[in-house]
Amino acid sequence: MYDTRIPCPAHGGRQPNCAIWRDANGRRRARCYSHSCPEREILAALGEIDVSPVNASSTERKQAWALRIWRQTRPGDHTLAETYLRLRGIRIELPDSLH
Ligand SMILES: [Zn+2]
Repeated sequence: MYDTRIPCPAHGGRQPNCAIWRDANGRRRARCYSHSCPEREILAALGEIDVSPVNASSTERKQAWALRIWRQTRPGDHTLAETYLRLRGIRIELPDSLH
């Protein structure tokens, strides 16, 4: 039934507990088994659907896009961000606010 399991892009999970698949009509489906994230948010985070209102202005669409990117961020530990900082000689403990 499921195509694959991935880390949930909606809540920024690290474990592959989000299932994605295509239904009989070929439509992308998703289910988060960790935080029960709304399917619409998962698909939006994957770029599968445009979540901005149909009649949204250019500014509203840009804001929705920025919000989508923000929701995909995660703490900097064990990421390319940490690798970059360590290579620059920065050895401080990474603050939680660093995403
Ligand atoms: Zn989730």
